[in-house]
Amino acid sequence: MGLEEKLPSGILLTTVEKVAGYARKSSVWPATFGLACCAMELISTGGPRHDLARFGMERASNTPRQADLMIVAGRVSQKMAPVLRQIYDQMAEPKWVISMGVCASSGGMFNNYAIVQGVDHIVPVDIYLPGCPPRPEMLLDSILKLHDKIQNMKLGVHREHQIEELERARLRRLPLVAGLGGQPGGSGQEVAR
Ligand code: SF4
Repeated sequence: MGLEEKLPSGILLTTVEKVAGYARKSSVWPATFGLACCAMELISTGGPRHDLARFGMERASNTPRQADLMIVAGRVSQKMAPVLRQIYDQMAEPKWVISMGVCASSGGMFNNYAIVQGVDHIVPVDIYLPGCPPRPEMLLDSILKLHDKIQNMKLGVHREHQIEELERARLRRLPLVAGLGGQPGGSGQEVAR
């Protein structure tokens, strides 16, 4: 974004980040991507019982250019994968993705050639939501966690430092299986803590 490149660092940028984060998290417009049974739970999240409108998100966009959140609800077939990627590419920046349910996150029970074994093979995922299907309350919880992430997203030079720090944290992360990494004599889990 042009504005972000021109922002100064320091206290002023921190204030701008807070305001921009608040504005962004309060105006997330989802581009729904209901692909299978999980979509029923996604639809009921917008109903009066769970009331997604509390977060200003009741306007599910069928136009990717007017959306900045993709909720992938259900298994992604190989045939649908390029369509999903095209819609993601057409969405407005900055944009986020929630992978809803085990099928979207890992292929779930569909361990076969027809289903993509995780939507993160196609688009970057911000939140993985477990469950088969996840209940609307779980989806609301993941949306609140995404709001936290958006609120704390840095801008400008701060963003570059944040990305570097995240990369370093990922490199420090060790495999959970003992013997595949970590210090001699200790399990990866112990070191990772
Ligand atoms: S996670 Fe369960 S409910 Fe969701 S698409 Fe897969 S099989 Fe259907």
